[in-house]
Amino acid sequence: MASIKVHLEKCTGCTLCVKACAFGAIHMNERKAVIDMAKCTLCGACVAACKFSAIEIEKAGGPKKDLSAYKDVWVFCEQKRGAIQSISFELLGEGRKLADKLGVKLAAVLLGHGLEDAAHKLGERGADKVYLVDHPALKSYQDDPYTAVLVNLVEEYKPEVLLCGATTIGRSLISRVAIKTGAGLTADCTGLDVDTKERLLLQTRPAFGGNIMATIIAPNHRPQMATVRHKVMQEAAKQPGRTAEVVCKAYPEETFASRTRLLDIVEELSNTVNISEADIIVAGGRGMGSKENFALLEELAKVLGGAVGASRSAVDADWIPYSHQVGQTGKTVVPKLYIACGISGQIQHLIGMQSSKTIVAVNRDPDAPIFKVATYGIVGDATEIVPALTREFKRALNK
Ligand SMILES: Cc1cc2nc3c(=O)[nH]c(=O)nc-3n(C[C@H](O)[C@H](O)[C@H](O)COP(=O)(O)OP(=O)(O)OC[C@H]3O[C@@H](n4cnc5c(N)ncnc54)[C@H](O)[C@@H]3O)c2cc1C
Repeated sequence: MASIKVHLEKCTGCTLCVKACAFGAIHMNERKAVIDMAKCTLCGACVAACKFSAIEIEKAGGPKKDLSAYKDVWVFCEQKRGAIQSISFELLGEGRKLADKLGVKLAAVLLGHGLEDAAHKLGERGADKVYLVDHPALKSYQDDPYTAVLVNLVEEYKPEVLLCGATTIGRSLISRVAIKTGAGLTADCTGLDVDTKERLLLQTRPAFGGNIMATIIAPNHRPQMATVRHKVMQEAAKQPGRTAEVVCKAYPEETFASRTRLLDIVEELSNTVNISEADIIVAGGRGMGSKENFALLEELAKVLGGAVGASRSAVDADWIPYSHQVGQTGKTVVPKLYIACGISGQIQHLIGMQSSKTIVAVNRDPDAPIFKVATYGIVGDATEIVPALTREFKRALNK
């Protein structure tokens, strides 16, 4: 555990720390800073703001890590029933870019059972190395054995960066690994880059309800860990014939012990369209005006073979179920074509769709923010333009 201390002899009462604290945790008493530990998150903003080195965060525990011992970019590759999940290919694509910038290797980590062929194939997606741990207890995801194995691997091979999908499995696993290895973790990133000089992972994610995009660094810990949202990054292209070195690791039986027992895996049955996988999405917002007008979007989506998406306003108005919501509190989508109708383009919506290949916006207001991300914009009434598009596509596609 870390603690924070004010060196009273150095404190001048300048109040810079009070201004720097976003949590209102510091006040002045007789011109000396006093920290309210109930509010302090040990974020370090006050330490950075103090010009007199009067505030110090003391880290308890073992000796300081030698950060230079850490190298390579790792991607945890998620598998379900032996099939590598597409998020893993997205992370390999992004990991490749980061590894090249840092001048290090890209390694995939694959845990499961009977996955040797799959491990070898990860070379085709850009991995230079694959760490494979094969054991019956790893066939399906379970917190305890997966955490124990990944912690062992991290402690032995010391990756500089470790990426994981911001999926149910990824979030559960990597937070445990971060705690056990004493590393920092940035959850739910939508953008990654590196500062090659300082060798820092620049982890960008929406913060404060999506009102700002924050870029987070972890200068004092390794590995630098991030979970990344599904469908935000492009998948690594397949390079047939490209190979990776596969390192098979074995661990003592007790490593695979679990406090929980997996009884069965039951697939969820659902009739709703999975917009996360759709290539074409026709989405509507408050500007569609009514639930009835959403039928216009469905018709266009049907002609194009796509799915219907929605802004939160449309979902809140009960015009369409939540499973269709795109955005910060909905789904992240990366279709080839996203047609946004009567959607203003607030940041919380953009976060979920701005990586779409082509964006067409239909809006009555020529100054609507959605036009800033749109490839093509149509200014006009969506209830007139959408049926016109449907008519034209029907004609062009002979439907
Ligand atoms: C913590 C948090 C999380 C959020 N999560 C999400 C999320 O996941 N997804 C999401 O979408 N939002 C989310 N929001 C809400 C977001 O901030 C916006 O309020 C919402 O996206 C607005 O939806 P809208 O564009 O449909 O409506 P509005 O902002 O009201 O925009 C309607 C648009 O339609 C246009 N228009 C009106 N009539 C017509 C017409 N006849 N023809 C053409 N255009 C017309 C208007 O010019 C306007 O631009 C979140 C907000 C918060 C605070």
